[in-house]
Amino acid sequence: MDAEKARDRLFQDIATFVEGNSLNLLPECDGIRIYDAPLLGVASAGDGLFEQFLAPEVIGPHHRLPGQWLTGARSVLSYFLPFSLPVRASNRGTGAPSEEWLYGRIGGEALNNAVRARLVEMVTELGGRAVAPALDPRYQVVDRKSNWSERHAGYAAGLGSFGLGRSFITARGSAGRMGSVITDLELPPTSRQVGPYGYCPQLTGGTCGECIPRCPVRAIEAEGKALGKCQSYLDFVRKKFAPRYGCGKCQTAVPCEAAIPSGGLGEGGSG
Ligand code: SF4
Ligand code: SF4
Repeated sequence: MDAEKARDRLFQDIATFVEGNSLNLLPECDGIRIYDAPLLGVASAGDGLFEQFLAPEVIGPHHRLPGQWLTGARSVLSYFLPFSLPVRASNRGTGAPSEEWLYGRIGGEALNNAVRARLVEMVTELGGRAVAPALDPRYQVVDRKSNWSERHAGYAAGLGSFGLGRSFITARGSAGRMGSVITDLELPPTSRQVGPYGYCPQLTGGTCGECIPRCPVRAIEAEGKALGKCQSYLDFVRKKFAPRYGCGKCQTAVPCEAAIPSGGLGEGGSG
């Protein structure tokens, strides 16, 4: 099978896997769907961006290169799983996260892990090898910093750009979850349409900022996000609703909830 056909087959099979998966339903919330159809992209494992991510002002030297996860890595498959309308709409109020969001975040991550594992399996069926960093024993989070960033892999694969609240904005918005798999299959990369901040009008032209007042703890300001404040709030939510947690107020009832905001097509920033 040629590389383009292999890539298209992986994309199609993952969409079918998500569509028909029982994990994509929330029995605790009237059986609503967690995710709509995924967006998928591919970056070359040799893309110079992965080296750039090691700079302290981008991610840092703790971040691993694709080839450090998988010897002979050639491609990085990245995907975005957009939350469904019922999950997103439930969280558009202020204050505590909605029940659907809390359940969707945890149930959704179970499906996300199943997608990662299925992609590894599918690559094997195509005669390749693959590693899902988030499922790998070498995956680490130290001082809240992980050694593989799903959002940065998504940027490299052309899925979108970063937003003010450190969210990742795709053609289907920012409310969703991401994942990736590194493989030694040579798959044609998908093109990047924007610079690293191109879909966020606040970061390109100072003209949105609607996520700022959405944050219950004022962690987001016009210049960026105070990560510590956000994390402390998520810790508080986790204590209150364990084992569920989450917030997502900055990803709901905002122009980038489920689409690229209007005015958000510029080339922004450099890192
Ligand atoms: S709400 Fe506006 S400022 Fe905030 S991340 Fe989305 S597009 Fe950017
Ligand atoms: S997830 Fe919640 S606490 Fe964190 S920045 Fe967004 S709105 Fe604020």
